[in-house]
Amino acid sequence: MSLLPVSEALERILASFEKLDSLHIPLKDSVGRILAEEIVSATDLPLFDNSSMDGFALRASDVTQAGSATPISLPVVDDIPAGKMPTHHLQVGEAARIMTGAPLPPGADAVVPVEETDFNNRAPGAALPESVQIFKAANLGANIRKRGTDIQHGESILHAGQRLRAQDLGMLAMLGVADVPVCRKPRVALLSSGDELTPIGQPLTEGKIYDVNSYTLGALLEAAGCEIIPLGVAADTPEAIKAALYSAKDADLILSSAGVSMGSFDFIKDVIEKEGKLNFWRINMRPGKPLTFGHYQNIPFIGLAGNPVSAFVGFMVFVRPVVEKMLGSSQQAQIVVRARLTEPIQSDGRESYLRAYLYHENGQRYAKLTGHQGSGNLFSMVQANALLIIPPEVKSLPTGAEVTAWLLE
Ligand code: AMP
Ligand code: MG
Repeated sequence: MSLLPVSEALERILASFEKLDSLHIPLKDSVGRILAEEIVSATDLPLFDNSSMDGFALRASDVTQAGSATPISLPVVDDIPAGKMPTHHLQVGEAARIMTGAPLPPGADAVVPVEETDFNNRAPGAALPESVQIFKAANLGANIRKRGTDIQHGESILHAGQRLRAQDLGMLAMLGVADVPVCRKPRVALLSSGDELTPIGQPLTEGKIYDVNSYTLGALLEAAGCEIIPLGVAADTPEAIKAALYSAKDADLILSSAGVSMGSFDFIKDVIEKEGKLNFWRINMRPGKPLTFGHYQNIPFIGLAGNPVSAFVGFMVFVRPVVEKMLGSSQQAQIVVRARLTEPIQSDGRESYLRAYLYHENGQRYAKLTGHQGSGNLFSMVQANALLIIPPEVKSLPTGAEVTAWLLE
């Protein structure tokens, strides 16, 4: 039986998802969220002409002859700290003390920093001098931040679909945006399945292992911006699986791992077939061939293979793009680079995802496999910083061949 190509599997999965609705949340909670609407500036920034230095505001034409041996003395007619409005319209031959960020007084067209005056005394509380000696000529506009030079009213600042970073939050604060339109977090019900799985914190009895995928997939989901509905670990019976899935009623996606192979205790596929609709259950991929996709009572269901590496890779290939689509994210799910192999690679003709360590040498990026590629060997994933993608049909690649790689954050 020919297996479904990865690209077609992804297309079929993505077709079942839509962008979710949005809501407004407080700015301080919005880092990492996906912006739901374009942000257009409702103001000029800076909002008013202001000084970029602590110094003296004046008219440049009054100090063209100023020099260290020929200082020009000007009366100081105003004192303008940040946050206060000037009280004088500056006349020819006048100066006003001004602090960084304070509004420029009308009539002034330059600021001379204190360092270039005889008032180079920034001790807090220094009294306003009656006059100031200017030691240096100033260019027109010197040390003035003009209104609207950074951002103009109506300018597009952030686009819908971008993930908000610290600097974006700062920008929104600068614009006075207190509530940010973001996409609702996708709700993902997360299920592990298998009689052998023991929750961590409990002693292992003979033949058992700890549940790994709840943690890996949980962390990946959270990092991708999802809210998790934990369904725990289901035993290998159809009843236990159905009982666990009952709590997934409000989910946008059910994500399970294991129980989808050809084993005598792999019931996930049966449950989906009986309680919903199976779309496909095997794909041309390594690791992660037994990927199951369908709907459980109208909720999209992705059943990843159970081995820890298979589950991880399956997430990267199929779940991450689904999450990005639900979030309306404009960013690519994966960061793609090219690298040269430092050793030959054998493949079985399936689209393969190999764990590798990428490094730079002499301006070239190289990829070195991180140990054996068994789908249970999570340590090789721990040592990896990238997944190499070996296309379908490729059976071997020589040392030095260039391959595509996804960076693992
Ligand atoms: P299965 O698809 O149920 O046959 O699982 C394939 C392999 O993955 C088996 O060796 C399982 O023990 C292992 N496995 C499945 N789920 C988990 C999990 N949550 N944590 C660790 N190993 C798992
Ligand atoms: Mg199992």
